[in-house]
Amino acid sequence: MKPLVCATKPRKAQYRAALPHAGYHAITQLQQKTPVKVITTNIDLLHESAGTQDVLHLHGQIDQMSCTQCLHYWHIAERDFTDEPCPACGNQLSKPGIVFFGEPAPEYETLYQIANSLTEDDIFVVVGTSLNVVDPIFIIRSMQRLPRIVMIDPNIPASARQFGAQCIALSAQEGICNWIASLDLI
Ligand SMILES: [Zn+2]
Repeated sequence: MKPLVCATKPRKAQYRAALPHAGYHAITQLQQKTPVKVITTNIDLLHESAGTQDVLHLHGQIDQMSCTQCLHYWHIAERDFTDEPCPACGNQLSKPGIVFFGEPAPEYETLYQIANSLTEDDIFVVVGTSLNVVDPIFIIRSMQRLPRIVMIDPNIPASARQFGAQCIALSAQEGICNWIASLDLI
């Protein structure tokens, strides 16, 4: 486990220096007007930095450690990843609280629960379809019962339109700002 910890240390410093762009702030503003649930594969805390509440991190987050034994997660805030023992079970083998390739990602279960609870009053917005891990078409296919799906990405797969998605071929920042402005809520 140690090499993983070392490999992620420089990246953590890099994440700390990043600042949320206007798209993140637009989401926060939208959330102040209407309920918004954010589901992200990002491990950074840019949504939180922008003031957004209620963020689900599918792949964990940079300010957590996790236990390889009991799967307990705990916050380490700004501290670097350490090899501190698990506070729940005392296991010495802890790791950064982020999901590495090949590891289980338990929060996907939460994603599917949320997906199942959506109603026709909800709008499902997919931003950044360059994701290799979450297949946006799979998500759209499973969301077909919903009347309003929005996809924002400069390279939207052609197949997205056949699923009835509103396609906005812009960068995440520009697309999310434009789309939220078009809602006329802010
Ligand atoms: Zn533990």
